[in-house]
Amino acid sequence: MEIIRTIAWMKEYARGARGEGRVIGLVPTMGALHEGHTALVKQARKECSQVIASVFVNPKQFGPKEDYKKYPRDLEKDAENLAAVGVDALFAPEAADVYPDGFRTYVNVEGISERLEGRSRPGHFRGVATVVLKLFEIVQPHFAYFGRKDAQQVRIIGEMARDLNLDAGIVVCPIVREAHGLALSSRNAYLGGEEREAATVLHRALVAVGNELAGGVRDAAQLQSVMRRIIEAEPLATLDYAEIVRADTFEPVVRVAQPCYAVLAVFVGKTRLIDNLLIEPASQESEEFVFHL
Ligand code: AMP
Repeated sequence: MEIIRTIAWMKEYARGARGEGRVIGLVPTMGALHEGHTALVKQARKECSQVIASVFVNPKQFGPKEDYKKYPRDLEKDAENLAAVGVDALFAPEAADVYPDGFRTYVNVEGISERLEGRSRPGHFRGVATVVLKLFEIVQPHFAYFGRKDAQQVRIIGEMARDLNLDAGIVVCPIVREAHGLALSSRNAYLGGEEREAATVLHRALVAVGNELAGGVRDAAQLQSVMRRIIEAEPLATLDYAEIVRADTFEPVVRVAQPCYAVLAVFVGKTRLIDNLLIEPASQESEEFVFHL
């Protein structure tokens, strides 16, 4: 596996691969890799002949009081993990190369970027969209792989790709969870012993929503209060938001009648965790819904 540290080199490498007729798959990450990330790589490996993973802790997507400085970083271990799952090249640029002095151009996907995660983390999605557009320009992938764990993020990237006529196909991969339901996240490393157990409360709340839906409940307020009750019963957890939203715009719904997400953001101690349940009609015209954790 080639480890590429500069934008100029990355561009040249990607240009070479395209010139050889290879199908390029890009897996953007912030490192501290886990099986959620490697699942994206494995999917890319199946569909592409050249797989490039990036590791870049993007300063522009962290708020001033957030964890940019203490975000876990271990490039050596990440490189080992990526090589083991068959990545061809690891792109790990320096922040000063990505954002040189005088940098002042940003991409903002309006509306959806201000809701939910965007409301709790102002400027977050502007930072995400900007860095993803830059990565797409540098690598020019045929396909880029994202996790449904960050459902709002991947929706925003899809909107950006459509609005700006980007060539990359956006591939969404399922959420990878621990055996007891906790969605894998680099931030799980912050959780202390008791907090790890408490963090399963997000999954428990989403399972409860699934059960209510299976029992015929469609009223969003009722589903939200089920989530809220479960989160509030967990002493180490503090709710940020628990909502039922449209899967396309992330606007709140009154009733589940089209594809939706149940979305959750919860502080467990000082660690902020997110998770979601995808709710879809079982088939066209169907009143039945299926859900994906
Ligand atoms: P991050 O390194 O947290 O920025 O995540 C990089 C990519 O991995 C994003 O597309 C995430 O949605 C995805 N990802 C992170 N955790 C998971 C998970 N547990 N399951 C699936 N995808 C994930």
